[in-house]
Amino acid sequence: DIHITEHVDFAGLLLSGSVQNGLRTAGFKRPSPIQLKAIPLGRCGLDLIVQAKSGTGKTCVFTVIALENLVAESAATQVLVLAPTREIAIQITEVFHMIGSGIPNLKCAHFIGGTTLQQDVLKAKRCHVAVGTPGRIMQLIEQQILKTDSIRMFVLDEADKLLEESFQEQINWIYSTLPENKQILALSATYPEYLAEHLTHYMRNPMFVRLDSSNPALLGVQQYYHIVPFHPIPQKAFDNKLKALFELLSTVTFHQCLIFSNYQTRAQTLSEQLNARGWPTAYICGSQDQKQRTHILTQLKLLQCRILVSTDLTSRGIDAEYVNLVVNLDVPYDTDTYLHRVGRAGRFGSIGAAVSIATIGKEEGSIKNFMEICNTHVKKLPEPFPEDLV
Ligand code: ADP
Ligand code: MG
Repeated sequence: DIHITEHVDFAGLLLSGSVQNGLRTAGFKRPSPIQLKAIPLGRCGLDLIVQAKSGTGKTCVFTVIALENLVAESAATQVLVLAPTREIAIQITEVFHMIGSGIPNLKCAHFIGGTTLQQDVLKAKRCHVAVGTPGRIMQLIEQQILKTDSIRMFVLDEADKLLEESFQEQINWIYSTLPENKQILALSATYPEYLAEHLTHYMRNPMFVRLDSSNPALLGVQQYYHIVPFHPIPQKAFDNKLKALFELLSTVTFHQCLIFSNYQTRAQTLSEQLNARGWPTAYICGSQDQKQRTHILTQLKLLQCRILVSTDLTSRGIDAEYVNLVVNLDVPYDTDTYLHRVGRAGRFGSIGAAVSIATIGKEEGSIKNFMEICNTHVKKLPEPFPEDLV
């Protein structure tokens, strides 16, 4: 469930052709927000502390940075990646293999214990990228099986775990065997105090990279969700939503309101129903021509209608400053759409509210997911509905 930035692709990050091919092989078309932010900084050679929630694509961040700096013509080990568990080390190696698949003769290997040291000797002799758990890596360095003199990049994945008490001594020891001149990347889902403390010993003026905790699209928007029961018959399920919608519009104070549905066919019917109930409503949908759509948007701006029903296809360009309530009659399928819709309620620093009407279960789960990814809070709408949402 990774959040992908819509408008930038990996080519926009000016990556080498071989890494771009590898990313394509991996099925990664566009960078996630943390990738977008951290990869260019890392390629500049800066030490980075990358903090982002799990599942946001941190592995690809250091893999791309490492591969872009690697000299495959040399046989020396140039990148050392530490991970707290064997499984993570294996996964990381797989990602290196995948994203590095376009680089001729690239050798990446994992060193995780559970096998004899002897089995690691050959692998260690010829590997550009060594990935491993601290214990085994330490052994290999100690016995001079793994050479550290050409290591130019040191990665601490899950740094918060790696720098817990139990690993600290090993990490310190490994660190002490590395050349002075190297780039260090630490990636972590959390950033506890002890981590900051240790990392400042290792790193030189590290950049701290994290996603803005307050997503600009959500500034000034109070977000709510309201749960309605599930019904196996779609029409009945929709009726549950309509009931909540009508109650909401009758209770809550608003200037103008945008209602989003995932279904174009619903826009017209809903608009008629709302007009019949006394709310001047227009709808905008894909089957209208551009002239019609422009006319409707003008109506909205001139306050000739109070409610506009829209689908996502037609939502771009809706920019009406008196809209201070957005209702998601259906929960959008992805985070970008959610941000885009909800952002309509807080234009130009004004204050607004967004209410997502979610069916219990799946849609409810999507809301929780948006909260995670956008690092934002969506409150449960109190019942009975309050008059003021902001
Ligand atoms: P983290 O280390 O932040 O927990 P991972 O690096 O394990 O996250 O990535 C989480 C998932 O997202 C993986 O399944 C990975 O393949 C996928 N992923 C990462 N980056 C992208 C991308 N740019 N496009 C599509 N999927 C991606
Ligand atoms: Mg990870």
